[in-house]
Amino acid sequence: MKQYDVIIVGGGIHGAGVLQAAAAAGHSVLLIERAGLASGTSSRSSKLIHGGLRYLESGQFALVRESLRERAIHLRIAAELVELKPFFIPVYHDTRRRPWQLKLGLWMYALLGGFDASTRFGSVPKREWQTLDGLETHGLDAVIRYHDAQTDDALLTQAVVQSAISLGAEIAMPAAFTAAALDDGGVRVTYSQDGSPVQCTARVLVNAAGPWAPQVGGLIQPAVPIPAVDLVQGTHIVLPFAVTAGIYYVESPTDGRAVFVMPWHGATLIGTTETPYQGEPDKVVPLPAEEDYLLAVARHYFPAFRHLGREHITQRFAGLRVLPAASAAAFDRSRETIFSTDREPKPRVLGIFGGKLTGWRAAAAHVLQRISPSLPARPVRAATDQLILRRPT
Ligand SMILES: Cc1cc2nc3c(=O)[nH]c(=O)nc-3n(C[C@H](O)[C@H](O)[C@H](O)COP(=O)(O)OP(=O)(O)OC[C@H]3O[C@@H](n4cnc5c(N)ncnc54)[C@H](O)[C@@H]3O)c2cc1C
Repeated sequence: MKQYDVIIVGGGIHGAGVLQAAAAAGHSVLLIERAGLASGTSSRSSKLIHGGLRYLESGQFALVRESLRERAIHLRIAAELVELKPFFIPVYHDTRRRPWQLKLGLWMYALLGGFDASTRFGSVPKREWQTLDGLETHGLDAVIRYHDAQTDDALLTQAVVQSAISLGAEIAMPAAFTAAALDDGGVRVTYSQDGSPVQCTARVLVNAAGPWAPQVGGLIQPAVPIPAVDLVQGTHIVLPFAVTAGIYYVESPTDGRAVFVMPWHGATLIGTTETPYQGEPDKVVPLPAEEDYLLAVARHYFPAFRHLGREHITQRFAGLRVLPAASAAAFDRSRETIFSTDREPKPRVLGIFGGKLTGWRAAAAHVLQRISPSLPARPVRAATDQLILRRPT
């Protein structure tokens, strides 16, 4: 039976990140993914590597600071995959947040980002408004410009896995995790590949199964604590007219929520929504009401979209956020990653619940720190903030 220091369930960005971090720390590590890399949430995000400007309003300063630091690291180590883009916030007579509030928020954003060149912001002069993809100018008071970064989430995940493999990590795919039994020495893991059960052992099992993490946690014996979480669906649509100047950060005319209108492969990606979800994670699909909501945003701000309906949507996808269970609206809930273990200080199981694409490297570093008391000392191979991520070919 093969023995590993670490076995990871889930080939999304978190599983990829822990795979890379464990391999970089010198450990033997296996990732088990049942479908394909980034086949879950990590190909259905808004594809932003961002500080999360709006999290300032809910006082999540530590999250914003960490995210801005991770953004800067991405721009250095993943320059082929992550691009700094201008973001535009149009402010109309009836926009909830006024220019002074936005500038105050952006000043804090710049402060938390260390005032580097990428944190510069200001107003777009009125004479340049005509360069903004035909943005509706009726009732427009100001357009605030700042910068954040855009990526391809699935390619980023693949790049991290490639980096891990180059450090000696292994992957089993397609292969479905089916059971784990804990004993004093660690974990006996069973997964199914090509219709046959495969068994191996690990000192630590990392549950990085995203929205499936509660189900995966339920397959572990004896039972381990699983945090109370809610699944909240987020849909994106792609429309054929291409915005090109940058990413627009607008308020939905329906409920004032923030929605992004983004250039995407010669078309426009619009998202996202927040719809409570109770079903099987596999069955999540965009709902017609969500598509209408996003179309209403596009039509409200860009005359070029006004003749478009649901029949013009060229691509649609829905992903599931994993958020701490609460009665508050999804929009206002913490986006901090929840880590849960079976025991301290030497966990045999560590679960990752929620989190952000942007924070994958920091989350993986945290996981390694939490599980290191359970792992043998190994010669370190690399530091993950120095490993260059290449665009997969
Ligand atoms: C709508 C939306 C927009 C978002 N936008 C952003 C954004 O712009 N920027 C940002 O920073 N973050 C964003 N996020 C958050 C980010 O996308 C997620 O935090 C991240 O992708 C979660 O990755 P994960 O690896 O935890 O889960 P996933 O990517 O879902 O990976 C879990 C994997 O586990 C596998 N799996 C499940 N069960 C098993 C099993 N039994 N055996 C083997 N494998 C299994 C699945 O196949 C899947 O590949 C967004 C999230 C959503 C939902």
